[in-house]
Amino acid sequence: MPPVISCFGGVGEIGGNKFLLEDRGTKVILDFGTGFADGSDYFDSGIQPRQVNGAGDLFEFGLLPEVPGLYSEKALQNTSMKHSDPEVDAIVLSHYHSDHTGRIGYTDPKIPIYCGETTSLIHDAYSESRSSPLDDHPIRKFRTGRTFKVGPMEFVPVHVDHSIPGAYGFVVHLSDGTMAYTGDFRFHGPAGSMTTDFIEAAAKEEPDLLLTEGTRVGHGDGRANVTEEEVLGEADRMVKGTKGLVFSSFRGNDVDRVNTFYEASKRAGRRLVVSMKMAILLDKLGSDSRLKVPRVGKDVDVYVKRKRTGSLDDSDYFQWERRFLDHGVSSAEVRRKERETFLHLEAWDFPELIDIRPARGGTYIHSATEAFNEEGEREEAVIQNWVRHVGFSYVQLHASGHAPSGEVFSLVDRVGAAKVVPIHTEHPEEFNAKRKRKGWRLEVPVKGKPISVSG
Ligand SMILES: [Zn+2]
Repeated sequence: MPPVISCFGGVGEIGGNKFLLEDRGTKVILDFGTGFADGSDYFDSGIQPRQVNGAGDLFEFGLLPEVPGLYSEKALQNTSMKHSDPEVDAIVLSHYHSDHTGRIGYTDPKIPIYCGETTSLIHDAYSESRSSPLDDHPIRKFRTGRTFKVGPMEFVPVHVDHSIPGAYGFVVHLSDGTMAYTGDFRFHGPAGSMTTDFIEAAAKEEPDLLLTEGTRVGHGDGRANVTEEEVLGEADRMVKGTKGLVFSSFRGNDVDRVNTFYEASKRAGRRLVVSMKMAILLDKLGSDSRLKVPRVGKDVDVYVKRKRTGSLDDSDYFQWERRFLDHGVSSAEVRRKERETFLHLEAWDFPELIDIRPARGGTYIHSATEAFNEEGEREEAVIQNWVRHVGFSYVQLHASGHAPSGEVFSLVDRVGAAKVVPIHTEHPEEFNAKRKRKGWRLEVPVKGKPISVSG
């Protein structure tokens, strides 16, 4: 049988990438994430899949593929599927976003995971401070250009620019044919040229099949494409123009955004104060000499939440948190220095504002994608209520992790694959309408239906 790829997620949806690549008896899972709308027709914050049923309640709605030899014993304990030794040889990850990694916790921990060196650092930080879906799996690390083989498959990882460091696309040489997978990408971040490196590496191999993301395809392409540099310009103006406290709930693993707000704080003579969870991430990523990240204690301070006793006593804090207490800033200190502080405060930490009691007239920067569903709109409304409660102004400031559709089509043209499979998009059919280069065939994936790579 010639090599085939089956798409079990990312099909007509953004996120949830789950692909199975099969070649001469070797099986590789390419990303294994949670979809953003995964199961929202059946589950919500009130109705949840039963833990005791492992993967069973997710099988029921096709939210996990019934692939033999993929799952852990625990995941299958109350299902009709029998547990067996792994029949899947490897899980290969493009990057550490949950829509690419979120379902790995169900898989057999004997299956090795291949990921970028930076991804393994992010995993270390999560593993220590909360949990990581990669926990218990053997981890094999790669970097750009360092190829690795799994059976007859040869993977060539090539870095791409995305809203998390350590993001990769792949060129995969198979026993018959070659395919390329973009992962998630953009060109408008500080490392935009890395995506061009991927295009060049992929085009050179003249792939038979290209698996490409299309998050922003069909989503108001007329909308301006905000670059990270523009976010910095706007943040600079905003922070300098604020008399009181500035706070924002941006994502810690978006290192470009961390650097942007660090720079804007520095220019305005403010100190960036981050959460402990972000501090441990910055600490781990700081050991990667190729990444530029602010140093905890030197460049940024750490916000310390009051726990049981009310004093910042060691015994109240987890082992991993204690090392940050020396650089700790309490709610009272934030209030005292509100004009000199840029505070990173995750939405779940907003009740801290009750202790901080900032003077009215500060600025809140909402640095995330605008809500795209009802649940998101509800969350945004709650955030706005908090911001109004403290008398701050609300500012939306964000650059997407994904390329606008024109740039996606340009990547497709330049890679020049014979067959194009759009994934991680709600509008795969748009690829047909917009394609410029004649000669490539569009294959809109169907969930679970194998697609031949070379044929
Ligand atoms: Zn992503």
